[in-house]
Amino acid sequence: YDDRDGFIWMDGQLVPWRDANVHILTHAMHYASSVFEGERAYHGKIFKSVLHSERLKRSANMIDFDVPYTVDQIEEAKYAVMKANNLSDAYVRAVAWRGAGEDMGVASARNPVRMAVAVWEWGAYYGDAKMKGAKLDISKWKRPSPETIPSHAKAAGLYMICTMSKHAAEAKGCSDAMMFDYRGYVAEATGANIFFVKDGEVHTPKPDCFLNGITRQTVIGMLADRQVKVHERHIEPAELEGFEQCWLTGTAAEVTPVGRIGDYNFEVGALTREMSESYEKLVRADG
Ligand code: PMP
Repeated sequence: YDDRDGFIWMDGQLVPWRDANVHILTHAMHYASSVFEGERAYHGKIFKSVLHSERLKRSANMIDFDVPYTVDQIEEAKYAVMKANNLSDAYVRAVAWRGAGEDMGVASARNPVRMAVAVWEWGAYYGDAKMKGAKLDISKWKRPSPETIPSHAKAAGLYMICTMSKHAAEAKGCSDAMMFDYRGYVAEATGANIFFVKDGEVHTPKPDCFLNGITRQTVIGMLADRQVKVHERHIEPAELEGFEQCWLTGTAAEVTPVGRIGDYNFEVGALTREMSESYEKLVRADG
């Protein structure tokens, strides 16, 4: 991803892609003082763009720093960098972090906070799983308690176990891993929220120790519009056996059907297809 043409917005300026570098003593690199967003633009418009910019600022506050730009300035930056790269369907990655400076220890209050936005083309997150149903591994890592880490921030530090989980999953031929939380309840995948269907009703984990995704909230709204009952609750591992359908939601994943989690199989059923197709229509129709 580093050696290519194009432009990246960095600290208020568009810089050539290859020059968008940081110093090795960047605080974020050593201590995970970084927050980010993943967004998608469809036909030139970023879906739920302002919600993502607001979440970036909130995530930074949760890990104890301020993004030095307003939501309006972040919006401007995202569209400027899309234009500079001549992209209208794109993945948008905003990131803010504690940079290099006076401090190089755990504390870094005197270092500048920096921000960048990059955009690139990115197709289906799970490839052809979008049609057939993704195969998920079950991770040995548990989503941590909100008393252990700010679990609701989209912060780099929370992704260490996600990367490890996803590598283990890929080594077994799976597209992703489902994670339980610190209490043992079903939580989410490594970069997407999870939904289940049983007897025409939908069950999804209560987001009390992981990201309440923007896609998740959008899909819950779509289900409400269809008068489908949604239960947001704690889900026990033993319940996996009884669920008929399953899908993942996320900006990158969109609505991806799940065919298998560990030894449990799910059908890519009518409601799953309906949500996947309707979400695709919505993102193209609506900002
Ligand atoms: N959980 C995690 C850990 C994620 O990284 C993401 C992707 N941002 C999500 C859930 C889904 O969030 P959203 O729908 O806002 O993209």
